[in-house]
Amino acid sequence: MAEFDYDLFVIGGGSGGVRAARTAAATGARVALAEDYRLGGTCVIRGCVPKKIMVFASGYPDLVAEADAYGWDAQIGDFDWKRFRAKLHAELDRLEGVYRNLLNTSGVAIYETRARLQDAHHVALATGEVKSAAHILVATGGHPVRPGLENAEFGLVSNDLFLLEDLPSNILIIGGGYIACEFACILNGLGVDVTQYYRGEQILRGFDDEARDMIADRMRERGIDLQTNMNISEMDLAEKRGMSDGSSHGHDGRAVTLDDNPMSSTVADAAKPLWVKDTEGREHRFDHVLFATGRAPSTADMGLEDAGVSLGKKGEIVVDAYSQSSVPSIYAIGDVTDRLALTPVAIREAMAFVKTVFRGEKSPVDHELVPSAIFTQPEFGTIGLTEQEGFERGGVEIYRTSFTPMKKSFAGGSGKTMMKLVVDSETRVVLGCHIVAEDAGEMIQLAGIAVKAGLTKEQFDATCAVHPTSAEELVTMSSPVRKG
Ligand code: NDP
Repeated sequence: MAEFDYDLFVIGGGSGGVRAARTAAATGARVALAEDYRLGGTCVIRGCVPKKIMVFASGYPDLVAEADAYGWDAQIGDFDWKRFRAKLHAELDRLEGVYRNLLNTSGVAIYETRARLQDAHHVALATGEVKSAAHILVATGGHPVRPGLENAEFGLVSNDLFLLEDLPSNILIIGGGYIACEFACILNGLGVDVTQYYRGEQILRGFDDEARDMIADRMRERGIDLQTNMNISEMDLAEKRGMSDGSSHGHDGRAVTLDDNPMSSTVADAAKPLWVKDTEGREHRFDHVLFATGRAPSTADMGLEDAGVSLGKKGEIVVDAYSQSSVPSIYAIGDVTDRLALTPVAIREAMAFVKTVFRGEKSPVDHELVPSAIFTQPEFGTIGLTEQEGFERGGVEIYRTSFTPMKKSFAGGSGKTMMKLVVDSETRVVLGCHIVAEDAGEMIQLAGIAVKAGLTKEQFDATCAVHPTSAEELVTMSSPVRKG
């Protein structure tokens, strides 16, 4: 009889956990996975996938306006959120089914309940069962955090947006990171009056400065009231502050489906209009406040400390290059480790874990030069050193172009594109690439291959341009605009 019930017990059924479970099972390992909400995790259920579908939905007013400029008699009507939402959730149900099937056909035992570590080899399920495993993989992901502000629980977090009963007529978004900027653009595109407060000088801290400025300008041009050096200082229910029927932005009834979804707001009052004081002392009334103020690893009440697993400052599981925690039989991957909170990174960590533990090939995870895209309008694709990081490092040349793409130019709209390469002046290796453009996410995936491969500027330029495209500019920038 086997010493343990399973060779691997995975806690968390998101992108990382599911990939690890089924690829480990493919090696012949006996694998179980526990998930207490829905299979698919943040990416599929309340993150990348529904967000991207909302990005598509929000882009149609622009497309129709453009169609008109191209000679079509095109007009856009009203957006029916309820019709869209029903279809969105049907799609998420379908995708959850795909994940379930993948696990079932791989022979992974699924426990649809909460799991907690008991010790280095035991997992206690909320059903009362205890399962033993040679290896335990924690892939519980992360969750949005609200700032420590009184009444912050009245505000929404990104999870709630997909569950809104009605689209608000206006919203205040707090934050200037990926989620804040993406949802500012999405909601603006869907017709919501968006105000965004960012506490610093410029949104998207840490990214290329020129790209940040360009995206901020474009967001403002689109009608987003983006205010920098601004934050929320107090909030309360509007009705308590005598603002209940103020500027008529309010709506009746509950805006958030407060079902048994542990990921959504738990406060019924989150549906009511809010009174907000900003850091300059001005008072406002908003239908909703969205806190896009960062995410934290989901490690609370998991029994990790009791099992001897070391946690870092943000509560993340501290792991080595092989995703192994301080307890040799316990591994962790994905957002719970607070390395790079991106789905494809979690998937790579899952594959490297399986290779290391179940295929006997020690495989560290490579977190260098990871491309990513921010789905603002326009999109922003980025990899490697920013111009500022290049100058700090020294010995770089900046190649950069900005132009209005043919499609936009013909339509007569604004819509400048920016492409930038940060190049090592000696070795000529391209150290960074930054693209602000329609479909920049698609472009950076391909340009990212060249940057990851360590190609030089001359090797970029040796590739013939594909004409007429926007991306051809990536291989035709002849002289540097700045050196440092
Ligand atoms: P980010 O860390 O990117 O942004 C958080 C924002 O909130 C920052 O602008 C931060 O300001 C601000 N903030 C933090 N605390 C406060 C506060 N108390 N008051 C006011 N503002 C505050 O987090 P996100 O939640 O946007 O995204 C989390 C991660 O998820 C990303 O880092 C990314 O890895 C991933 N993600 C990736 C996406 C993609 O690939 N397209 C899409 C969405 C998420 P400051 O800059 O001053 O710290």
